[in-house]
Amino acid sequence: METWLKRGSEASGIAEADARVRETVEAILADVQARGDQAVRDLSIRFDKWERDDYRLSDTEIEACLSQLRPRDIEDIEFAQAQVRNFAQHQREALRDIEVETLPGVVLGHRNIPVQAAGCYVPGGKYPLLASAHMSVITAKVAGVPRIVTCAPPYHGKPAPAIVAAQHLAGADEIYCLGGIQAVAAMALGTESIATVDMLVGPGNAFVAEAKRQLFGRVGIDLFAGPTETLVIADETSDGEICATDLLGQAEHGPDSPAILLTTSERLARDTIAEIERLLRILPTAPIARVAWENHGAVIVVEDEAEMVAVANRLAFEHVQVMTRDPDYFLANMTNYGALFLGARTNVAYGDKAIGTNHTLPTKRAARYTGGLWVGKFLKTCTYQRVLTDEASARIGGHVSRLCALEGFVGHGEQANIRVRRYGGRNVPY
Ligand code: NAD
Repeated sequence: METWLKRGSEASGIAEADARVRETVEAILADVQARGDQAVRDLSIRFDKWERDDYRLSDTEIEACLSQLRPRDIEDIEFAQAQVRNFAQHQREALRDIEVETLPGVVLGHRNIPVQAAGCYVPGGKYPLLASAHMSVITAKVAGVPRIVTCAPPYHGKPAPAIVAAQHLAGADEIYCLGGIQAVAAMALGTESIATVDMLVGPGNAFVAEAKRQLFGRVGIDLFAGPTETLVIADETSDGEICATDLLGQAEHGPDSPAILLTTSERLARDTIAEIERLLRILPTAPIARVAWENHGAVIVVEDEAEMVAVANRLAFEHVQVMTRDPDYFLANMTNYGALFLGARTNVAYGDKAIGTNHTLPTKRAARYTGGLWVGKFLKTCTYQRVLTDEASARIGGHVSRLCALEGFVGHGEQANIRVRRYGGRNVPY
């Protein structure tokens, strides 16, 4: 039996907000489609007070951004990028092309072919989220995508040096300082100055996530990676301070970021609530984190580990931090999550920033049907087939001819019949 010791006050507001976001996005996509660069410029001025003739950053501007960072900052970015690249390369190696003989003379295969152009959105409205550049640009690079375009919004009225450095060091081919709906629309729909891409990837706020959702079909998208969510699963072996730290560490992302503690210990639940109140008095990002916690925070107490798994699978959260006696129990039994952080020695910030797993992860219960961004998302698994012998062609043709007759597809059936006659020297027996 689960008991909610705290429940956010959000519920009814969410549907209304979603409808408003949907309408805003629809109107902006139509505007960019109709007016191209001029619409992008007008929207950039309206939402970001950011006006330029050309939103693409020149080599000189990129160099200027790099030179504003300390050598130590560059080293940290390079460290994080090396970890992301290394893990992505291992994942790429695990994705093999195959070719198999499934019947005598019948050869089937598939090739993993990269999309030819990817648009990588790097969020940067509230914070310059440079880590998102590693996560999408490097992963696309490892997948072999030949053209990688990337957009990030201006930060305090200009390109964020750390984001631009990360986009450049990750290997992006075109870097634009553009944010929000207008950025993803420009990449997906194309304008006079930005050639269209085949796929959009990367996280963003509710506007960016909704824009990607509406553009799906005209381009591919990675997944629904909206406002971040965190679930901390902990038992009596954990303590309130670390649980509170991990919850607020993600709630500071934005006022719409849910943070939930799921525990078997009522003592831990009460300690965590008290610690959150204490930390909210000193955390510099408390104005955002407090709204997130008050509107979307929750504390759920359950009986045992099995119930924790059942609730966690139902929530299907983006990040799941496990701090219990036996974290591997959750690895073995959980089925719906974006990424798992097993044990107190690691945490969501490690995954978000540098450990090497991808931080672009499913939100709003999309974890029921997809994992996060990875090299596989940039690859199309395309099949092919070959029939090596006359016997094999006539054998398959007999089955196909009769199956086509069952469907009433006469033309399809003729494709088979001609081959049975030509390669088998007979008519198809019915
Ligand atoms: P952002 O870059 O996603 O959005 C900023 C842009 O939003 C601005 O450039 C502006 O053009 C546009 N915008 C702002 N208000 C608007 C309005 N009223 N109408 C139309 N457009 C508007 O940056 P952000 O806002 O800081 O959000 C980043 C988000 O990314 C956070 O919600 C964070 O939780 C999320 N995130 C998710 C993941 C994931 O994997 N799911 C990972 C990292 C970050």
